[in-house]
Amino acid sequence: MCYGRSYENELRSYSEIKQKNLNSNPMADNHLMIKCKEYLKLLCEDITERCVGSNGNRQATRFMQKELSLQEWETEMVEFEAMDWEENGASLKSDGDFNIPSVYMTEEEGSKLISGIGKIVFLDSRSRRIPGKGYNVIGKKGNNTSAKIVVTAHIDAKKGTPGAIDNATGVIVLLLLSDLLKDYKGNKLIEIVTFNGEDYYAAPGQKNYISVNKNKFDNILLNINIDGAGYKEGLTAFSFYNLPDEILYVAKKVINHFSGITEDIQWPQGDHSIFVQAGVPAIAVSSKWLIDNISYQDITHTEKDNIGIVDCNKIVEISQALNTLIRSL
Ligand SMILES: [Zn+2]
Repeated sequence: MCYGRSYENELRSYSEIKQKNLNSNPMADNHLMIKCKEYLKLLCEDITERCVGSNGNRQATRFMQKELSLQEWETEMVEFEAMDWEENGASLKSDGDFNIPSVYMTEEEGSKLISGIGKIVFLDSRSRRIPGKGYNVIGKKGNNTSAKIVVTAHIDAKKGTPGAIDNATGVIVLLLLSDLLKDYKGNKLIEIVTFNGEDYYAAPGQKNYISVNKNKFDNILLNINIDGAGYKEGLTAFSFYNLPDEILYVAKKVINHFSGITEDIQWPQGDHSIFVQAGVPAIAVSSKWLIDNISYQDITHTEKDNIGIVDCNKIVEISQALNTLIRSL
């Protein structure tokens, strides 16, 4: 691989920033650690649920908006219709936000039902749908709309899970990054986008973002999406999607500087796919353990996804790495 003269500026700015930001500042690290813990408690414990359309979800998005504006970001709450639901059936389960009523039963229960072939059975589904509003929260800094860096994380969580690494930690990275980039005066427009609805079939917030921005994807230089980050075991995994050489070069330099971060395989199950499909280069940030075990892990979407499995040091490290990366582009 050849890194020609055109990268000299990136290199220079990278090493300047490295000196300025990375020569470890324990006070700053400590401040970010304290914030990380507070945010984690708020998003996963004080707010008891974050599924789209629920009160908790709206509380979380309002909080996000307030924090971003406190860090001097220009904010916007983009409203859309969402569907919450509740289920009161002990043995019947409602599933997702399908428009068709559906009831699920396990194989075990089904085999009991088989013995009643020919008989009439009654199904009493005690679930109901609750229409409500949901919001994508957007924070902007800078005004160069022709060169945007869009940093994304989804704020919703599956019903019945605190959603710590899926995806409170992603939201917390956005919040810490908004603090680190508070004084950003670079020549890019930085957009922090809190998506809402990633873990739901209808993905209402993502669909809204795509329709509002459908002719503007060409102006996005890079998407950075954080989902599943900060798991206590293993390294942080950065994966790259169609990065132009100059961005790839800077990204690799940044990764090399942070001992807890490694480059890892691509995975499609996140909001970065929205950008990749639109031809936008992307970086996805997650936990290596999670990516390695993606098909058989039983943490995300369950009650095991609680604050006990989060390593706040990793969240702080990711925020600092992304701060360095963004300032170097
Ligand atoms: Zn997720």
